[in-house]
Amino acid sequence: MPFPISIDDPISYPGPPPSDTDVVVVGGGIIGVMSAWELAKRGVKVVLLEKGRIAAEQSSRNWGWIRAQGRDAAEVPIMQEAATMWRQMADEIGEDIGLRQSGVTYLAENEKNLARYEGWLPIAHDHGLDTVLMSAKETAAKFEGSATTWAGALWTPGDMRAEPWVAVPALARAAVRDGVTIVESCAARMIETKTGRVSGVITESGTINASSVVVAGGAWSSLFLRRHGVKIPQLSVRATVAATAPVENVHDGAAVDDRLAFRRRQDGGYTLAASGFHELYVGPDAFRALGSFAGQLMQDPLGTRLKPVPPRDYPDAWGTSRRWEADAVSPFEKMRVLDPAPNMKKVASMAKSFADTYPQLGKFEITTAWAGMIDTMPDVVPVVDTVKEMPGLTIATGMCGHGFGIGPGFGRLVAQLVTGETLNHDISRFRLSRFHDGSKLTLGPNL
Ligand SMILES: Cc1cc2nc3c(=O)[nH]c(=O)nc-3n(C[C@H](O)[C@H](O)[C@H](O)COP(=O)(O)OP(=O)(O)OC[C@H]3O[C@@H](n4cnc5c(N)ncnc54)[C@H](O)[C@@H]3O)c2cc1C
Repeated sequence: MPFPISIDDPISYPGPPPSDTDVVVVGGGIIGVMSAWELAKRGVKVVLLEKGRIAAEQSSRNWGWIRAQGRDAAEVPIMQEAATMWRQMADEIGEDIGLRQSGVTYLAENEKNLARYEGWLPIAHDHGLDTVLMSAKETAAKFEGSATTWAGALWTPGDMRAEPWVAVPALARAAVRDGVTIVESCAARMIETKTGRVSGVITESGTINASSVVVAGGAWSSLFLRRHGVKIPQLSVRATVAATAPVENVHDGAAVDDRLAFRRRQDGGYTLAASGFHELYVGPDAFRALGSFAGQLMQDPLGTRLKPVPPRDYPDAWGTSRRWEADAVSPFEKMRVLDPAPNMKKVASMAKSFADTYPQLGKFEITTAWAGMIDTMPDVVPVVDTVKEMPGLTIATGMCGHGFGIGPGFGRLVAQLVTGETLNHDISRFRLSRFHDGSKLTLGPNL
């Protein structure tokens, strides 16, 4: 089965873009969609540009975990607000996005890992989460029928799941109903400025005058921003995922141990992934930023495999132009949908791990395998901030592999940043300046 969203899908939002608006949002993933929607709810005129198709990159390719568990302390309250928003949206938008409160469990293969998970409990308690540490016996009881035994587990029953490739397009439709103008197959090439502040966006289909721009370009943000003199040390890693055909319900929620992550889907299949395994194509940005990622790499030295050459037209490929002009084809048009080939060796080992864990499933079919490029930052927390040097520019990117669940919360914060409202949360942890002002980067829990 092909992956559910691709460049071959018909364009749902053809444009052309209008020539004037209040805010242009660059990127039609969960962050861009939610930012645009929250702006529209505030009466702001907003145009969302997507170079390919809505949610065709990370926002459809993820595991579908909506979790507070394991997050950085600064993210937890934003995630809690996002969880409330998810529930409201699921009730209100009139489409089933597969939202279920079925919990997230981190299974520890040994005492050392269990102690690592236990170390996160104070954050859970500080924020009133229902997270518990389970003993080996409690874990075995909860995962009855599993052939694997674990030393214990960290479990947050209140965490949820939803179906990414269903949910994000549905949220985009709801945003359009509330006034957002979306244009697909329309790359933002350059931000236009007048006397140093944002005055518009030059797209492949003409210029849109606007006093604000939100960059939510996922794995493309660093490339886009660097062209405008804004540097963020963002890298992207390939992560492989697979879907099984519908099988017996062996565990209703999402769980991960040292080999495998698995999550029950609404269609009765499981989404599988190899835990703690990523592949980093070393291009010029990676080369430049690798030093700042040393802490993260050291924390899990076997988790990231380096691969020498990024495929052609990837954001960090050696041949990708860094100095495109506004009147010529930009790198964003050359790669409408970043659709990495999955690592099929990993797919085979994931299927084996799942079969080993639940032998009663017998032979099951892998219906689809895919990969996504996860955009990540050195301290494993995103950048959500305005840019002092270019008034009118707001950045929301670098979600570090956990932006799906928290996306609605950050979307609301982006709208508050753009409109100058009081922010619902302290977002100083996500400030842009931390990379340039000599701050010591503090690694997030990365659990
Ligand atoms: C395999 C995998 C598993 C994951 N699992 C989870 C999970 O279980 N839970 C969780 O919370 N998170 C998870 N994540 C992370 C989550 O998917 C991302 O953090 C989130 O989707 C990022 O959203 P985004 O909007 O920032 O980026 P994206 O979804 O990547 O969207 C960015 C969009 O911007 C567009 N764009 C870029 N440049 C331009 C331009 N110049 N003009 C126009 N358009 C442009 C791109 O085409 C793209 O569609 C996972 C990610 C992956 C890949």
